[in-house]
Amino acid sequence: MTVMIDGKKTASQIQSELVNKAQALKKAGLTPCLAVVLVGDDPASQVYVRNKHRAAQKIGIKTKDIHLPKETSQAELLKLITELNSDPTVHAILVQMPLPAQIDAEAMINTIAPEKDADGLNPTNIGHLFMDDPRALACTPRGIMTLLEKYQIEVAGKEVVIIGRSNLVGRPLAALMLNADATVTIAHSKTKDLKKIARQADILVVATGRAEMITKDHIKEGAVVIDVGINRLADGRLVGDVAQGDLDGYVSYLTPVPGGVGPMTIAMLMQQTLELAEKSR
Ligand code: NDP
Repeated sequence: MTVMIDGKKTASQIQSELVNKAQALKKAGLTPCLAVVLVGDDPASQVYVRNKHRAAQKIGIKTKDIHLPKETSQAELLKLITELNSDPTVHAILVQMPLPAQIDAEAMINTIAPEKDADGLNPTNIGHLFMDDPRALACTPRGIMTLLEKYQIEVAGKEVVIIGRSNLVGRPLAALMLNADATVTIAHSKTKDLKKIARQADILVVATGRAEMITKDHIKEGAVVIDVGINRLADGRLVGDVAQGDLDGYVSYLTPVPGGVGPMTIAMLMQQTLELAEKSR
């Protein structure tokens, strides 16, 4: 039997627990605050920002919503981030990506103070993570580790194969898995014989952004499959990076799309905001 990992339910449980944490901080005189910066009018980004704002509101995290025009220069954005870095009422800063072409995402990430890095993508935080001394963590990889923990799926000693090496998902997840004592392989578009490598996995994580590219013959029977992908097909359906249709009864655990990894990312962002607020005292 295949267990479907319910990310929606898990994220909602975590968010309920965070309400108490936010209240405790407020009682202690600290109102946790997340600054959310949106540059431009990308419709998908507007939805993401609205969802983050709503989640924060439900938990009792204040948000400082800053919407800048799409012509904003890099210098203007970096100046704003520098001001937020030194604002003691702001504990976490998130700049929604993608950014307009005139702004270099790396320069933006480098400017956010590591102790206010809501997304955990600043190189200082990535460095700490790779040294097994984690501080702020990338939210999607952290969400994956939390799902595995909640479903009591052992990671130590397991063969973990991660397909995808982005700074957002694959790389930080590899470090988290290594820190959790897994044996980790990272595959990518230049990997030779992907099927052979993927079939070695006890835990297979797929984050390629290619709709349903991983099929049953890439997967060992009984493996745990974490499908990070979110792809919208021409007919409007949302699918993952794994063709999930014939996996029922073949794999041991599977994250659905939607409702698997996706909801965990926002929950982890909220958790991290509260942790950063707590550490600021
Ligand atoms: P990127 O495009 O940044 O990275 C994709 C990675 O997949 C790259 O490392 C690329 O290899 C690799 N890849 C692409 N094609 C192949 C292939 N044919 N064989 C093997 N490897 C391949 O994507 P992200 O990491 O940002 O996102 C991945 C997916 O996860 C997307 O569907 C995205 O929507 C989703 N996502 C979901 C989130 C959530 O909250 N659930 C959050 C973030 C992302 P190479 O490096 O060689 O180019």
